[in-house]
Amino acid sequence: MLTANETRGADSIAGLTREGYRGIALYSAVSGRCDIDLSDNTNLWGAPPSALRALATVGVTELARYPGAYEPALTKALAKYVGVSPDMIACGCGSDDVLDSAIRAFAEPGEKLCLPDPSFSMIPVFARTNGLRPVAIPLTRWLDADVDAMIETGAQIIYLCSPNNPTGGAFSRRVVEQIVARAPGLVIIDQAYVEFGGDDFTDLAVSGRPVLLTRTMSKAFGLAGLRVGYGIGSPELITEVLKARGPYKVSSLGERAAIAAINSDRAWVSEHVEEAIANRSRFRSELATRGIGSLESSANFVLIPVNDCAATSRKLESAGICARPLRDLAGIGDAMRIAIGPWNTMQRCLEALVTEDATALIPTSREET
Ligand code: PMP
Repeated sequence: MLTANETRGADSIAGLTREGYRGIALYSAVSGRCDIDLSDNTNLWGAPPSALRALATVGVTELARYPGAYEPALTKALAKYVGVSPDMIACGCGSDDVLDSAIRAFAEPGEKLCLPDPSFSMIPVFARTNGLRPVAIPLTRWLDADVDAMIETGAQIIYLCSPNNPTGGAFSRRVVEQIVARAPGLVIIDQAYVEFGGDDFTDLAVSGRPVLLTRTMSKAFGLAGLRVGYGIGSPELITEVLKARGPYKVSSLGERAAIAAINSDRAWVSEHVEEAIANRSRFRSELATRGIGSLESSANFVLIPVNDCAATSRKLESAGICARPLRDLAGIGDAMRIAIGPWNTMQRCLEALVTEDATALIPTSREET
């Protein structure tokens, strides 16, 4: 039995952690509380049938033995899909894992990681858990990355996200190319939503410059539950990412299902991507006819500036719908990020949003974007 002195409370445990790590909060997911979950931009049409069939025939060996250390079969299938050689692909437990590993590999603790603001909320967390200092640079008024301001930070890693989460807009090729040309260190281009719009920057990842492009099986490919993502870059860069990542990070089941989807269900993926794109523009125009503005989107979600995101979130939840409330985004203010799914789902969301007083959603003072 431990004495009171020997028992450590939560505060003293936190005191044992690294400085700069203490203030980091545990990620809190919105999903899971509602009938309709529009909070995490996954594929709301489900998963590719070939992936389900592949999982149904899993054998004992695949469960009882470790997978390949760096999942060679999936790497090969992805390389063929992307049109590069297998040594230019690094898989991971979601693209989160690839991003985290790259951030660990390419900067010394204490150095800066520069990212646009607003952008993917996990990036400052990955920076800080790896001992780096995140520096957030506001998007331009056209919601593009600010080239000069980002370069002037002198950051060892520059992170770009196109289409950008949570604004939904794609960065212009000119801006991304300028950043790649002028960056002093690694440029990460996160293309988790590229299937839904915007330029594909794979050419920059294979250009010989220090660029890592990340993509995922969690969104258009409908396999978020299996946690499979990947990065594309030069063979030398990919080796460094894999060293930081470590072996056995993709499960045999994830590998098997992802290969099936890539090889046999591209038509399923494109069909639902097209439907998402059509529903995205229909949802935005239905909102507009009700006097609710939304940001142009190249992703499978739409950002709606609102007066008070907590109030809008409660209103949606009372109708059984979860979406992502975002408080006081730089240059935007409060907003709701809403994933796009089948039209009956969007219709329910629309009805929940416009019940009572639609004008309560509309920000009173916001610079036109
Ligand atoms: N990048 C962006 C921009 C995202 O929105 C997400 C998921 N929310 C990820 C990366 C990570 O996705 P995953 O780990 O499922 O591949």
